[in-house]
Amino acid sequence: KPIIGIEKMVKKYDLGGEVVMALNEASLTVEKGDFVSIMGPSGSGKSTFMNMIGCLDRPDSGRYFLDGEEVEKMNDSQLAEIRNNKIGFIFQNFNLLTKLTAYENVELPLLYRGVVAKERQNAIYESLNQVGLRDRAHHLPSQLSGGQQQRVAIARALAGNPPILLADEPTGALDSKTSQEIMRVMQDLNERGHTIVLITHDAEVARQAKRVVHIQDGQLFEDGGKFLGASTI
Ligand code: ADP
Ligand code: ADP
Repeated sequence: KPIIGIEKMVKKYDLGGEVVMALNEASLTVEKGDFVSIMGPSGSGKSTFMNMIGCLDRPDSGRYFLDGEEVEKMNDSQLAEIRNNKIGFIFQNFNLLTKLTAYENVELPLLYRGVVAKERQNAIYESLNQVGLRDRAHHLPSQLSGGQQQRVAIARALAGNPPILLADEPTGALDSKTSQEIMRVMQDLNERGHTIVLITHDAEVARQAKRVVHIQDGQLFEDGGKFLGASTI
């Protein structure tokens, strides 16, 4: 069964009388091992959809199955738990703690999960190895380039071994050469079996995924134009 099953998701914002349909019956199925880009212009609903996939916000209606669990039935603490266990987040601005080394940044989700010291060390070096940064483990973010900082953030997302990596404009703060490098890292992780959902406004970035889904006015379309608003579950 799919790792993500979203059916007819609706999210409205009321702007003092005017209702904006940020998501208008968006449906999406993502299989394990897939690499999907969600691409659309500013205001198309990307952030709203990212917040839904990441269990950071709730829709007004629709259904969401994440790795077999029905998200819309969960209370807030269950939502926080599923978010922490199922999803590794990667952000545009890296969101690293500036006073901690690469190693210590990657350690944070493992500390949160109560992973014991020896296992933690192995997981940290394994994650840093996977993004090619093993030799920068004890550097601070300020001693690393933008691309290296994003690699640390990717290693942090990997550390708890979540079933999904969710990347929000991961190349948005990087030049085009460095963006290419980061997309190579993402492709490499996908080849090793990680399921990736990547949100971007950049067609050049989007097309490096296995599958491109377009978002326009809160609706999703398969590359080629097929409307993804029907029942998928
Ligand atoms: P994108 O990330 O693609 O730029 P968003 O998901 O941020 O798109 O926005 C989709 C639509 O929803 C836009 O019309 C935006 O103005 C509106 N919107 C998003 N967040 C809010 C909010 N908190 N309050 C009101 N309107 C919002
Ligand atoms: P240090 O602060 O010198 O890194 P550590 O206690 O972190 O000391 O680890 C001792 C050494 O063993 C480190 O230099 C690190 O490179 C190496 N090491 C430990 N675990 C691993 C691992 N899983 N993969 C690669 N190298 C490791």
